[in-house]
Amino acid sequence: MAEQQQHASNSGAYLIRGAAILGGAAEDLLIRDGIIAARGPHLDADGVGVGDATVIEAAGLVALPGMVDIHTHLREPGREDAETVETGTRAAALGGYTAVHAMANSTPVADTAGVVEQVLTLGRAAGWVDVRPVGAVTVGLAGEQLAELGAMADSRARVRVFSDDGICVHDPVLMRRALEYVKAFDGVVAQHAQEPRLTAGAQMNEGEVSAVLGLAGWPAVAEESIIARDVLLAQHVGSRLHVCHVSTAGSVEIIRWAKSRGVNVTAEVTPHHLWLTDELARSYDPVYKVNPPLRTDADVQALRAALADGTIDVVGTDHAPHPSEHKECEWAQAAMGMTGLETALSVVQHTMIETGLMGWADFARVTSTAPAGIGRLQDQGRPLEAGEPANVILVDPAARWTVDPSKMATMGRNSPFAGRELPGRVVATFFKGHPTVLDGTLNTPYRWPDDAADAPAVRS
Ligand SMILES: [Zn+2]
Repeated sequence: MAEQQQHASNSGAYLIRGAAILGGAAEDLLIRDGIIAARGPHLDADGVGVGDATVIEAAGLVALPGMVDIHTHLREPGREDAETVETGTRAAALGGYTAVHAMANSTPVADTAGVVEQVLTLGRAAGWVDVRPVGAVTVGLAGEQLAELGAMADSRARVRVFSDDGICVHDPVLMRRALEYVKAFDGVVAQHAQEPRLTAGAQMNEGEVSAVLGLAGWPAVAEESIIARDVLLAQHVGSRLHVCHVSTAGSVEIIRWAKSRGVNVTAEVTPHHLWLTDELARSYDPVYKVNPPLRTDADVQALRAALADGTIDVVGTDHAPHPSEHKECEWAQAAMGMTGLETALSVVQHTMIETGLMGWADFARVTSTAPAGIGRLQDQGRPLEAGEPANVILVDPAARWTVDPSKMATMGRNSPFAGRELPGRVVATFFKGHPTVLDGTLNTPYRWPDDAADAPAVRS
């Protein structure tokens, strides 16, 4: 009985009528039994058999593949006062995501098969998106001893992305061993590139503004020196490297050089680094305190150009919710981080699409196809074609809305975009054919079948 009810909540067919596919020509999509059953200009006139489908009028909306975040902090287990898997994945669904990679810096750290399986189970119980646990590179993020990477890769969570994010794997021998180890299961090491000796006590970007404010600076070279070292290590051992949240123009140059030499490196930029600069620190408002820090306008322009030309592969949110008491205090004491899941689409539309740097097909590449590839996710980032998994979102690009953190699903109130008017709104999110979001509001979660736990899809 329970199983029938679960199945019933996922079933149903939806005819999306007249959506601009990847921003191109208007076509219909028929979603049934978790897949895109048909795609065409006028499906109900074509005898496709749409009879029982719920019609969603989508004229003026853009249809895109569900977004995949390569970098999300869900905080659970251990910091449920900041975020839970339930609240963070509600935020993700509302933001247009159908999968998120949950970073390992929880309490306990996700450095064992047991913890990553716990996160996987929490994600499935919530049912809003596919939660893919990231495994820690080192035990306890301590940077001293490799974690059980193989056991996490072979676990039910099938971990493919490993990161000590928040902390840099700064020991070159450990980094080399990690890169060598993950080759066995086609994994990737996602590095928080930051030389700790150069950033001790740092509060913001090192530059003119930090000098004026008298705050300890965070030099670009701290990031760039680690990226340079790591691309050389990745080349030397023939492994796969991912660089988290690239923030400087110099980092872009190093990654461009590495790619031109055939190094297997991918890179990510956050929405906030595509827009905001260190000038905002003049307010001393800790909502602008983040790691890596907001940089200069020259860096912002270089990051936009790099995302447009493919040097930077993906947008990752680095969604980092904090309790208010950790952000509403003096700058020096405040926690570093910003929320991002519910604003990412709008910020990328504002910074990349409305500037003419990218179109919606490029948007799909950097927010869905490429991050799904880095995470080796089989069912995500797929083309919007008949027979493909129905992870689909509908976006109203003409909508305008003002960011109000108190109205968001995330528990974090630390949005640097609070009060700003942004373009673009997620109207619907379909996860495995089930609408998790309809009319811009949460619908119901997807119910995982009881037998799904042992076979998460991973592509090689
Ligand atoms: Zn980080």
